[in-house]
Amino acid sequence: MARAELMDFDQALELFEPVIGLEVHVELNTTTKMFSSAPNPANSAFHGAEPNTLVSPVCLGLPGSLPVVNGDAVRKSISLGLALGCSIAESSRFARKNYFYPDLAKNYQISQYDEPIAFDGELEVEIEGGKTFMIPIERAHMEEDAGKLTHVGGSTGRIQGAEYSLVDYNRAGVPLVEIVTRPIFGAEADAPALAKAYVATIRDIAIALGISEARMERGNLRCDANVSLRPRGQEKLGTRTETKNVNSFRSIERAVRYEIQRQAAILAKGGTITQETRHWHEDTGATSAGRPKSDADDYRYFPEPDLVPVVPSAELIEELRAALPEAPAARRRRLKGEWGFTDLEFQDVANSGLLNEVAETVAAGASPAAARKWWTGELTRLANASERDVVELATPAQVAELAALVDAGTLTDRLARQVLEGVVAGEGSPQQIVDARGLAVVSDDGALIAAIDQALASQPDVLAKIRDGKVQAAGAVIGAVMKAMQGKADAARVRELVLERAAAVE
Ligand code: ADP
Ligand code: MG
Repeated sequence: MARAELMDFDQALELFEPVIGLEVHVELNTTTKMFSSAPNPANSAFHGAEPNTLVSPVCLGLPGSLPVVNGDAVRKSISLGLALGCSIAESSRFARKNYFYPDLAKNYQISQYDEPIAFDGELEVEIEGGKTFMIPIERAHMEEDAGKLTHVGGSTGRIQGAEYSLVDYNRAGVPLVEIVTRPIFGAEADAPALAKAYVATIRDIAIALGISEARMERGNLRCDANVSLRPRGQEKLGTRTETKNVNSFRSIERAVRYEIQRQAAILAKGGTITQETRHWHEDTGATSAGRPKSDADDYRYFPEPDLVPVVPSAELIEELRAALPEAPAARRRRLKGEWGFTDLEFQDVANSGLLNEVAETVAAGASPAAARKWWTGELTRLANASERDVVELATPAQVAELAALVDAGTLTDRLARQVLEGVVAGEGSPQQIVDARGLAVVSDDGALIAAIDQALASQPDVLAKIRDGKVQAAGAVIGAVMKAMQGKADAARVRELVLERAAAVE
């Protein structure tokens, strides 16, 4: 639907109540896959491997191969379930979900159906601006990922119009947890922002638990967004669409907003919404129809006969519960208070995904203001310029060391930026770079005075002006001294000394 045909967002909200439901897939970072000993590409150690090199007979569904449940994946799934406030099933079972697709060699996916490992949870989510919502979680179940198809030769990368397709089974069998919410009511105009914040909160939990790399751009975290509208005052839920695999936080918000505006335009004209999957297009900012989807799609689920039920002991569950990190919304509130940041400053850090880096930098001794400044300022700039991930450019300990050198007066801000470039280039710690590149501020007044006297002697007209009280003339001398010191002087101190010397010299 063209932008012009969409209903205005505010008008859509006057007429209809939006209801959303979110399905999030989290790839676990276990060393091996869900049901086999093949290396897991969702673990950074194996990321980017050549196609079809991380496979075993189980991933390929070869005759005679049998699945074995990965205990680490089960523990990580339980931790995630607990962090979502879910009950953990005393016994849960795997099921076969049957369908044909070339990226699924067995012709069925091992998933969980009527006995998920975790169910009935609740998660507190804070949106930008600080409002919080309780999100009801229906279930979190374990399953395996499918392989990846690459459609070659078409213009869109989709199967339509492609000449041929390539199959990579590396991802087949990667452990997944699928988290499904109940329908979410009451978000109203915040529904798009809430959808985004919910997925960001799941990312924060996954990272805090250390169970997933949780990088959306790598597909470690994927979201399907269900959206429906019902006319104000109507009890019955409207027909939903399911926008698939939206792959950035910003796109989740845009996709939900677009669907609200699109569905409102259709409904207001007396039209009906088709229950279907939809594809999000990043370039046009629109969704397009995928396949029709009924609530009773018949996948012929049946209990997986090759696997015994998962029956975690009460001790294991309590052990994992005791090890849970602080909940993300509570942690944000605590950090914001401790750091004394304004809403805007805090959002700046949180939205850049740098909360952990700033927290660790503060823990390593930096002031919150300095930690925020270096991470969201210079380091982010260097990351954008080099198209690298900002968290890979420096460690919190290095940033804290840099901030300490500035506080001690060893570095000016300008010198500190040069040191940071050295850190990013892998030249060592800030102190090592200061020593190796000779970047420390010249704090020896003797050296500064010598340079100042020389500059004053070579610019007698400037000296005369300063003595006449035209203090702004000192700029020329300060500039000359800074140049002689190769920028490694504190300009304010140089200015003080210039005025002193101008009064003193004969
Ligand atoms: P499917 O198999 O179609 O993916 P799921 O049960 O896995 O179904 O997920 C459906 C999601 O859509 C859930 O989050 C559910 O709460 C949500 N949902 C169901 N009905 C509606 C509706 N009318 N409007 C919005 N969301 C809905
Ligand atoms: Mg689903």
